[in-house]
Amino acid sequence: MGGCGRKMGRRRQECCSRLGRNGGGGYFTNDDVIKQTHHAMDILSRNYPDEMHVFIFDNATTHTKRAGDALSARKMPKLIPKDGNFLVPANKVDADGKPVYDAQGDIVKINVCMRDGTLPDGTSQPLYFPAGHEHAGKFKGMAVILKERGLVRKAKLNAQCKGFKCAPGATDCYCQQVLYNQPDFATERS
Ligand SMILES: [Zn+2]
Repeated sequence: MGGCGRKMGRRRQECCSRLGRNGGGGYFTNDDVIKQTHHAMDILSRNYPDEMHVFIFDNATTHTKRAGDALSARKMPKLIPKDGNFLVPANKVDADGKPVYDAQGDIVKINVCMRDGTLPDGTSQPLYFPAGHEHAGKFKGMAVILKERGLVRKAKLNAQCKGFKCAPGATDCYCQQVLYNQPDFATERS
């Protein structure tokens, strides 16, 4: 470590690379970032084999992770939707996972089901009823989702508070707030 530190002190180099947006106006996919990183590592190990290199990523990759079927308690209905379903907007992607653009150059949006949540015991929790269920394919609604997590009393709360006049710092005043603070939902916020 001593030798490394000395070298670092003497010849510290910082390279910044803005991976946020590419020419097409879309975010880099995770694959793009990995490809770029491998490329950078090749260059570094060829030209600076004795240096210690540190790669720092901001949340560029989370954009692609979040785009799509991320868990979000926003606008979630408390009950099973009577008409239609509760879906979330996502970028339409082609077979390579790249966003699809319309004639105006805007990313085409489609509505998709959210990915599964995670129950307290670590098993996955589909947010839509399974095949064979009388509501197969429909969104379960927050009440059912909370009950399945063992939060029976919280499931009886309102979907939202009127005017959101909750006590400062409240985390379980209404259904959306309770879900928003569940670990699996919380880890998808950034
Ligand atoms: Zn409240």
